[in-house]
Amino acid sequence: MGASVTDLMARELERFAASHQRSRELRDAAEGALLSGVPMNWMTRWPGTYPVVFESAEGNALVDVDGNSYVDFCLGDTGAMSGHSPPPTVAAAERRLRHGITTMLPSEDAGPVGEEMGRRFGLRHWQFTLSATDANRFALRLCREITGRPKVLVFNYCYHGSVDETFATASEGKVTARYGNVGPPVPLAETTRVVEFNDLAALEAELAAGDVACVLTEPALTNIGIVLPDPGFHEALRELTRAAGALLIVDETHTLCCGPGGYTVAHGLEPDLLTIGKAIAGGVPIGAYGMTDAVAERILERTIWHEADVGGVGGTLAGNALSLAAARANLGEVLTEEAFERMIALGERFAAGVDRVIADHDLPWQATRLGCRVEYMFSPTPPRSGGEAAAAFDEDLDALLHLFMLNRGILMTPFHMMALMCPTTSESDVDAHTAALAEIGAEL
Ligand code: PMP
Repeated sequence: MGASVTDLMARELERFAASHQRSRELRDAAEGALLSGVPMNWMTRWPGTYPVVFESAEGNALVDVDGNSYVDFCLGDTGAMSGHSPPPTVAAAERRLRHGITTMLPSEDAGPVGEEMGRRFGLRHWQFTLSATDANRFALRLCREITGRPKVLVFNYCYHGSVDETFATASEGKVTARYGNVGPPVPLAETTRVVEFNDLAALEAELAAGDVACVLTEPALTNIGIVLPDPGFHEALRELTRAAGALLIVDETHTLCCGPGGYTVAHGLEPDLLTIGKAIAGGVPIGAYGMTDAVAERILERTIWHEADVGGVGGTLAGNALSLAAARANLGEVLTEEAFERMIALGERFAAGVDRVIADHDLPWQATRLGCRVEYMFSPTPPRSGGEAAAAFDEDLDALLHLFMLNRGILMTPFHMMALMCPTTSESDVDAHTAALAEIGAEL
């Protein structure tokens, strides 16, 4: 028998408190001004009794206000997939900052960024937003508008940002709001159909109702752990949506980790619309949605397009010059084909290290890799659906492993044991994680 999770957690909390005193002081000082002492509620979900306050971050190295340094595998949950403050992106953004940030006019960078997105993802018509959330919200609205249908179909435990319609779950055919959903504007059953990922029979049955404007999905779920599609799932999804007259939106915000054109290009998907955000401008806020010629035509024909900004598809700061300058440099010089090759090889090394530790210590866990992203889960077999993944989640063990890693200078994505490689991640960074995992594996 290994040490108990509770005992190990107590030891790690002590270690955390001793080495993060300045973070604690800053959190205490901020508590009067910020709800829960943080600028965004989810920052309270980091391991430890309060969040680490960071001082600087460059590439995949991060330093906190107590002088602790970290190898960052969280990378802002993909927002910093290019590494923190990549030099070409920073240089372009700095030039832009001095000469007009947001004007309501297009800048010279806009067209080339659209072309580059088209080249990468195979869709020709692009619009830019400030976040992936907005890209999804607008794509959804446009699908409803041009199909004249009211509903979106999503997969159970999906996450696409703060998009009202997607916080739905279903059991025994009844759609309800997901646990924790804050003030849903209308009952979720009015807007949403939900099926489990990889359940083609349920998908076909729900689409048969004829009221689904679009299916919105990640190509592989990444927000309830990684859930990979079964072989043939995407072909069937495409066929069924086409047959039912429903559009298909693929959200590549996280699955960009599969290559320069995301999972879509790596696996030959044919979405009607594609949404993305986070990484493409190197950490400067941006989101984007692209569409086929056919969808673009329908939008221009069937919407009052020049009034759309006051009709639900807008945002004064969207498409601003800073975002586009950063995106142009970041796509052109940082998230290149060669960078992805290196990053994916490191992902393979990371997964192999985890597999080795699991085998050495006979742990009932497994690792799943998606390009340069790796996740390990505390269940012996990979989940096939969001429901299965949620059921396998072990909150205490997850909290312990996150804190153990943090105390040894390794930052994992706070909500799962998920790691992302960036252009400056090195083999020794990956091996440092493997060594730490072997240490806790032995203790457990
Ligand atoms: N889509 C996916 C797949 C995501 O994982 C997220 C955020 N984790 C979003 C959209 C929303 O991104 P943002 O919060 O930057 O708007």
